[in-house]
Amino acid sequence: MTSLLHASKFAALFTIFLSASISLAQSETSVAQSTDPATECTDYNYAPVDNEIANFPPLWQPADIVPTDTVALALWNSIEPGVPNIAPRGTITGNETGVVYDGATDPDCWWTATQCTVPKLSGLPADISGVPEPNTLGYGFDDGPNCSHNAFYDYLTEQNQKATMFYIGSSVMIWPLQAQRALNDGHEICVHTWSHRYMTSFNNTGAFAELYYTMQMIKLATGVTPTCWRPPFGDVDDRIRYIAHALNLTTVIWKYDSFDWEVGLNGITQATVDANYQNLVNNATAGAFSTAGVIMLTHELNNFTMSEAVTWYPQLKSAFKNIVPINVALNRTHPYVETNYTVPTFAQYVSGTLTTSSNGSASSTSSGSSGLQSPKSGQSGSGSIRTMSTGISASVLALAAGVVLMAL
Ligand SMILES: [Zn+2]
Repeated sequence: MTSLLHASKFAALFTIFLSASISLAQSETSVAQSTDPATECTDYNYAPVDNEIANFPPLWQPADIVPTDTVALALWNSIEPGVPNIAPRGTITGNETGVVYDGATDPDCWWTATQCTVPKLSGLPADISGVPEPNTLGYGFDDGPNCSHNAFYDYLTEQNQKATMFYIGSSVMIWPLQAQRALNDGHEICVHTWSHRYMTSFNNTGAFAELYYTMQMIKLATGVTPTCWRPPFGDVDDRIRYIAHALNLTTVIWKYDSFDWEVGLNGITQATVDANYQNLVNNATAGAFSTAGVIMLTHELNNFTMSEAVTWYPQLKSAFKNIVPINVALNRTHPYVETNYTVPTFAQYVSGTLTTSSNGSASSTSSGSSGLQSPKSGQSGSGSIRTMSTGISASVLALAAGVVLMAL
């Protein structure tokens, strides 16, 4: 009994200590100060999100509609009758053993099988897989917010460069102030699903929930609701496109892949990634994008992927006439549901007007960059995406085991 009491007291003291430590960093500005991953990734409380945890799917778990969520259910009921009758495929981890699909006719425009970007189902817009402006790179990063992204975001600010950030709902829930930084820095935020699984594997309500709750979480954390999304692994077909379109989300894909996410896996090395960047630079220099621009898949997944982005930025800047966020490239000046937030037109942006909304101040969070760690030391990822089990409160997130999410 004595030892139990001691254990209980220790736990109480630890909780007090934890609460004291996390109370030091509770604003977007203060969280943005450090470029030490251990400090950046120290847990904190953020009441607007913490108080709503019960109204969202469990973190990192395949989402479904929260049974008590009458608003989501009503919206889903209005969408469901039109969803095309296309069966889910494979598993949430992308195992397609036994999946039969006719790639020759590609009836569902399944990107994973054929890289199809023009839906077969009438009424759906084509995916955004490039940008219309010539010699232009549509610049974006997947899998954030990474809690240790400050050095990278500092670098982008120093370069007066905005980008499109495809955020995972579960990561926004853990790191809402890092998500706020993106908006305050003038970057665009799009949806990258709740749990980062293969979307075509979900049933209809699951696919809806993966998108819907990420939109709601980004709104809760940042105040804006995205109107764009990117499927993890590119795994999208006309059923998923229909649900996304019904949620007012434009599907954004890519034509070039840096494979930065895969370093250390499947024989992919830094040399592979460098070669992929070099190939894009070479093609741009050779005039391959003289009639229309391009989108390449890159990530803020870990320190390596962010370091590669920093390493290659000067060469991309030289090879392309323009490097712009996706919505800017598309002249979508109202990229969110909330109409009071605007971004520049393409012409405005390339003329030097990088932000037009009062929310998008380029100087609000700038701080001196200490530079990123070397790629080799950054891959273990104290700043990598963390996971947690169902029902653990946000205040004990610091105790959750860190994992590197295998992500695309
Ligand atoms: Zn991803």
